[in-house]
Amino acid sequence: MSTPLTIYRPDLAAGRDAQVLHRAATPEFSGWLEHTRTAGGCARPVRLTGTIAAVERDTGRVLGEQHTDELPDGALYKACGNRRESQCPDCAWVYQGDAYQVVRCGLTGGKGVPASVDRHPVVFATFTAPSFGPVHHRHIPRHTCATRQRCDCRPAPCRARHTAETCQHGQPAACFARHDADDPRLGQPLCLDCYDHAHQVVWNYFSGELWRRTKQAIERHLAVLCRRRGVPLVRVVTASGKVRWVPPVRVSHGKIAEMQRRAAVHFHVLLRLDGVDPDDLDALVPPPVGITVDDLEAAVHTAVRQITITTPPHPDRQGGWVVAWGEQVDVRRINSTSGELTDAKVATYLAKYATKATEATGHQSTRLTPATIDDYADPEGDHLARLIDACWHLGRPTGTDTASGAATADDRQGSIDTKPNTYAGLRRWAHMLGFGGHFLTKARRYSVTFGLLRDTRATYRRAEDDHPTDTVTVGMLTYAGSGWLTEGDALLANTAAAQRRQARRIGREELAHEAWLVGAAA
Ligand SMILES: [Zn+2]
Ligand SMILES: [Zn+2]
Ligand SMILES: [Zn+2]
Ligand SMILES: [Zn+2]
Repeated sequence: MSTPLTIYRPDLAAGRDAQVLHRAATPEFSGWLEHTRTAGGCARPVRLTGTIAAVERDTGRVLGEQHTDELPDGALYKACGNRRESQCPDCAWVYQGDAYQVVRCGLTGGKGVPASVDRHPVVFATFTAPSFGPVHHRHIPRHTCATRQRCDCRPAPCRARHTAETCQHGQPAACFARHDADDPRLGQPLCLDCYDHAHQVVWNYFSGELWRRTKQAIERHLAVLCRRRGVPLVRVVTASGKVRWVPPVRVSHGKIAEMQRRAAVHFHVLLRLDGVDPDDLDALVPPPVGITVDDLEAAVHTAVRQITITTPPHPDRQGGWVVAWGEQVDVRRINSTSGELTDAKVATYLAKYATKATEATGHQSTRLTPATIDDYADPEGDHLARLIDACWHLGRPTGTDTASGAATADDRQGSIDTKPNTYAGLRRWAHMLGFGGHFLTKARRYSVTFGLLRDTRATYRRAEDDHPTDTVTVGMLTYAGSGWLTEGDALLANTAAAQRRQARRIGREELAHEAWLVGAAA
């Protein structure tokens, strides 16, 4: 056991540069840099205190113990792990790398996914929301540029009209502007009063369910097709010994939610056709011959047109809202090695969106509460304020769910419907403009898991640190705080991490740029 270090006392009153000099002048500086390395690039690491023990894996024998008092700053630094680039660029970068691996392995195999998956039919589909009212938009009808990398093509006028109509609120129904890509008007309604904010937040709220039913419909279409073409059902025996006959194909997916500028969510989804192994339901096997990428594509288009949800009644709208896909559903094929849409480009494109949430809309906040809602919601305010207001208003406690909280003895006779208000979650997700789903999701069988990637990384680091792999590290740790001790520390740790990553980052950003062009073309 080493002797306790001299305790570093940060000069909190000093400026950042003075803090940097102060830290760098301590004899333990290089040890501190090494100690903070695993959380080095993090904007707001978690500090943990307590005891760490090295335990022999087979016997459970404690080989050594160390208290964090003996470590620099008396604490362990753990990266915050936030996936959002706007919250912690470095942790988001790590997450993006993992997301890339998850998506890529589902296309090409690797990390436990069989390499044969690269022969399964795959399509890349974009599912959009319908219109909730006209918004300013940018559209390039025909590209004349040699390379999209330096596209300078002129966009068409936003919403050209022959007549000088106005809506009932006196707003022009036309916009002749050719909007630049960074024009803040993009995604904003032409008339805020005509726009159906309630419908949009309800759509965002039910979009996950719409997707779930759509995927079921895709699988149902393929199952029907198999039957029609004489591909037999597969006989499987369940764990409890029951015999079941299941369709011979299934669809695995990896999906990213992207919040558009108008604040409607849309989904980018990889759909892969898999077969069924009667002896091992978890095995990834090719689909039966005779079911092709054309069939998958056709099944997606059919399901998209067919699936529509009518949401449950709401006091503001007894008939509920219709939740269906927009007209533009883009389904494309992927070429594994070359061409416009390669495995690597698709994986990079999806990984890029995995680190974003509502940023494109201009809104960013944590969960809203009755104390903070008035800072953001306004039924007469701008587009975002009205969307947030719609979430809060539609998610209010209504007659159908007051029974549980405020029921009197008489109410309990059964006269009140105690079914919870289906829309209550809109308040919980008001800061996400109604969308309560995850931004990256995948079918269980699609690919490797994030957990496995994290474990692999931890093992790799341990090997790198030259710890014997037959020991495990057990920590009895408690939370001591968040963030670096000083701004100077943050600068030092972040700079060191940035230098270590420089080379790797450049490679990835070039790919990301190319991938962005794929998306821009979509
Ligand atoms: Zn972080
Ligand atoms: Zn416009
Ligand atoms: Zn162009
Ligand atoms: Zn209007």
